[in-house]
Amino acid sequence: LSVEAQNVLDSIEENDVDFLRIQFTDILGTVKNVSIPASQAEKAFTEGIYFDGSSIEGFVRIQESDMRLKPDPNTFALLPWRTHEDGTASARLIADVMEASGDSFAGDPRHVLKRALRKASDMGYQLNAGPEPEFFLFEEEDGQATTVTHDAGGYFDLAPKDLASDVRRDIIYGLDQMGFEVEASHHEVAQGQHEISFKYADAITTADNIATFRAVVRAIAAEHGLHGTFMPKPIAGINGSGMHTHLSLFTEDDENAFYDGSDEFDLSTEAKQFLAGILEHAPAITAVCNPTVNSYKRLVPGYEAPVYVAWSDVNRSALIRKPAARTPAASRIELRSPDPSCNPYLALAVMLQAGLDGIERGLEAPNPVRENIYEFDEATREEYGIDTLPPNLGAAIDALENDEVILDALGKHVAEKFIEAKRAEFAEYRASVSEWEIDQYLEIF
Ligand code: GLN
Ligand code: MG
Ligand code: MG
Ligand code: MG
Repeated sequence: LSVEAQNVLDSIEENDVDFLRIQFTDILGTVKNVSIPASQAEKAFTEGIYFDGSSIEGFVRIQESDMRLKPDPNTFALLPWRTHEDGTASARLIADVMEASGDSFAGDPRHVLKRALRKASDMGYQLNAGPEPEFFLFEEEDGQATTVTHDAGGYFDLAPKDLASDVRRDIIYGLDQMGFEVEASHHEVAQGQHEISFKYADAITTADNIATFRAVVRAIAAEHGLHGTFMPKPIAGINGSGMHTHLSLFTEDDENAFYDGSDEFDLSTEAKQFLAGILEHAPAITAVCNPTVNSYKRLVPGYEAPVYVAWSDVNRSALIRKPAARTPAASRIELRSPDPSCNPYLALAVMLQAGLDGIERGLEAPNPVRENIYEFDEATREEYGIDTLPPNLGAAIDALENDEVILDALGKHVAEKFIEAKRAEFAEYRASVSEWEIDQYLEIF
């Protein structure tokens, strides 16, 4: 056993853990769990846990379904909402998915991200990523989620306590117990909307954290009788939920490769090339970072979400923002398009590969746009050379299919399964009839 694995066994003993949840993520970003008695932990580390991969969306066919989970001992965490009355606890471990042969499984999103990180490391870089996931808390009625916000209109001014900050406090407390470093938490612009951003970390840790974060928010909201949702645009006419992602590359000596104090924007040449790579691949990246039909209801003008492919050092209508950094280490770019319905492993993998492509090809960043792009007309956008993000999931998948770099970033297996699933989702949506259409057309035609 490795030292890390031995430490996990010790923690299991110390904390009286009786069950371990072994987690992994399918291609669509859904977290899957296999629960094992803690007594099986040692065997899980040495032999892995066999499971039937054919039952997982986008994994494998029945004929080749034997797969193995290999828990990563660095991901051990106690589940704060699962401490039992008798003092026993549950914990989780995140696993890599292997084929029965022992090779990494090409359809494992964590593997896709690791491949991107290996490429970065071959080029001398390590990616740091810091996400700002937003979410809504809604009332439940008869066990069903509604879209009624729990803090609607402040009509319950006389309520004994502020439910929103109570839930948020419990979420942060839970995250803290699981080893998260929460940077900031606040009520967002929309009613019932919240944001909790956590400290940047290496990309694998960040992707693991995002997957965990979504589970923690939902579980703790449920304890308060609320439904926590990361659906990108649950209510028309108000802000949707994004997951801005801050990115920087560090060198092997832990220097921020994105910092150059002599540059007008404090951005190094590599940072600008990376940024240019993301702009170049923006349409294809969107399919992965905004993977639902609903994602595109958020990417419309007027709600602080990006629509246009541009960057800015001052305003927030652009796809990429250069935040003002106080220290060289904090020099970074913020990609504002991702939403929290994405698969965090795949999303970080495509952002990284797009940026690295920009560095490899020495792409040049355009000038930043300092005006509010929402207010530009088409002619002005054309004059500035500003493209628009794909308007819907179908267009985004088209863009993905035409982008070799991003297809490669996903790998053949994931790209095929992802495109197939998303094409089906979009076809089903196209064949549906919405309330908007009924309201608009039923009576006038
Ligand atoms: N909710 C906005 C979005 O969709 C972001 C708002 C903000 O964080 N300033 O991206
Ligand atoms: Mg924020
Ligand atoms: Mg925000
Ligand atoms: Mg932000």
